[in-house]
Amino acid sequence: MGKMEEKLREPRPGKPLVVIIGAGFGGLEAAKCLKGKDVEVLLIDRNNYHLFQPLLYQVATAGLEPNAIAYPVRAILRGAKNIHFRVAEVYRIDRPKKTLSTSIGPIGYDYLLVSAGNRTNFFGNQKLSENCFELKSLNDAIDLRNHVLTCFEKALAEKELEKRRSYKTIVIVGGGPTGVELAGAYAELARHVLTKDFPMLDLSQVSIILLESGNSLLAAFPETLRGETFSKLIELGVDVRLNSAVAGVENGTVLMKTGETIKAETVIWAAGVQGVNLSDGLTDKPAKGSRVPVTPQLHLLDGKNVFVIGDLALASPDDPLMAPVAIQQARCAANNIMNSIQGKSLVIFRYKNRGMMATIGRKAAVATIYGSNFRGLMAWLIWLLIHILWLIGFRNKLIVLIDWAYNYFTYERGVRLITRKPKTNRLPELER
Ligand SMILES: Cc1cc2nc3c(=O)[nH]c(=O)nc-3n(C[C@H](O)[C@H](O)[C@H](O)COP(=O)(O)OP(=O)(O)OC[C@H]3O[C@@H](n4cnc5c(N)ncnc54)[C@H](O)[C@@H]3O)c2cc1C
Repeated sequence: MGKMEEKLREPRPGKPLVVIIGAGFGGLEAAKCLKGKDVEVLLIDRNNYHLFQPLLYQVATAGLEPNAIAYPVRAILRGAKNIHFRVAEVYRIDRPKKTLSTSIGPIGYDYLLVSAGNRTNFFGNQKLSENCFELKSLNDAIDLRNHVLTCFEKALAEKELEKRRSYKTIVIVGGGPTGVELAGAYAELARHVLTKDFPMLDLSQVSIILLESGNSLLAAFPETLRGETFSKLIELGVDVRLNSAVAGVENGTVLMKTGETIKAETVIWAAGVQGVNLSDGLTDKPAKGSRVPVTPQLHLLDGKNVFVIGDLALASPDDPLMAPVAIQQARCAANNIMNSIQGKSLVIFRYKNRGMMATIGRKAAVATIYGSNFRGLMAWLIWLLIHILWLIGFRNKLIVLIDWAYNYFTYERGVRLITRKPKTNRLPELER
């Protein structure tokens, strides 16, 4: 390799430096909007890939391979001369010094755009975080896939009936889109795939239990679609329990607030999110869920050179925690950074809500788009099309299309591999 290729090109001095934290939906879109503009951009993420979180549940349920839903950031930004990318963990934001403390050393900025997303909210309950799985990162999804498949292998070798059942019980806490999608996908995995893989196990005793503390699933959806979701999950064999609040999870037992217990080796916590811990450096008065209050122009209430967008920001309580909000905010914030540099007035963010959707299973989804409700096959086809188009990269679109077509026609899940030791230390490693 020649010396020229080894030399790192640093942001050009003399140009305003915009540092973006997070190459998720918001951060990446903001970087793209600033491409070719008269600023230098430094995008920072702890991972070298952009993750398509809406399909994480498919990796967790062995429907898609991890590389189908992640794409290298460098490949996305190739050719953008004013955009630089660093893989680093940002630890702290020092606003008075306009500096970030990171795993690769301090990084200064003129403008800062934070789109660092959120993390699972265990509501300060340490035991919940130790004993439950979550679904936020690619590693979480791979951990879950490995764990669930390992549980079925363990069930085969288990002599004691109650223990064997607990290996075959998956409890999902939280009846929002992630909980619903996971429950439907695990029910189908059990029904169509595991029954064939484990003919010697009594899979009629596989339990997929969805616990929701409120009185309906998908609370943000119109009432008819919530009812449809409930009926479809019951039809798939999911044990849906509404008004069922969890008090704790310990040693393979879910303790309900009513005092009832459920034995389960797999408990997935999909019941709440909170802003990432960078919010400390951004506000003294975080809003509910550690979100950072911002002005309608998306900058901090007390700092016009720091913009916060996406799941971490609270611009309006009506805006849902969804990718389109982060993307639209990114366009507005990037535009406002350029306006600010050029001395122009800043524009106000208004979310254009096109709707929302959730998939329940094969040929079953619910969607509300521009005020019209869709369900069943129609909603599922819309969901498929939108997710294929939305994925980044031709290769990813192709892999997903092939995997889905294969799953559809064969009822199989090609990715049911146990590729590493499961996360939990309660589950002994499989015998070699
Ligand atoms: C399982 C799941 C399913 C979802 N399904 C849907 C759906 O179907 N439709 C929909 O619209 N939305 C969905 N969402 C929500 C959607 O993914 C988020 O609203 C969106 O990702 C928010 O974008 P963001 O830019 O704020 O954060 P993210 O996209 O989460 O990006 C944050 C980035 O910041 C990086 N980062 C965080 N902290 C640091 C740090 N300290 N140092 C360095 N890097 C850091 C992370 O690695 C990440 O790349 C889903 C979310 C999940 C978890």
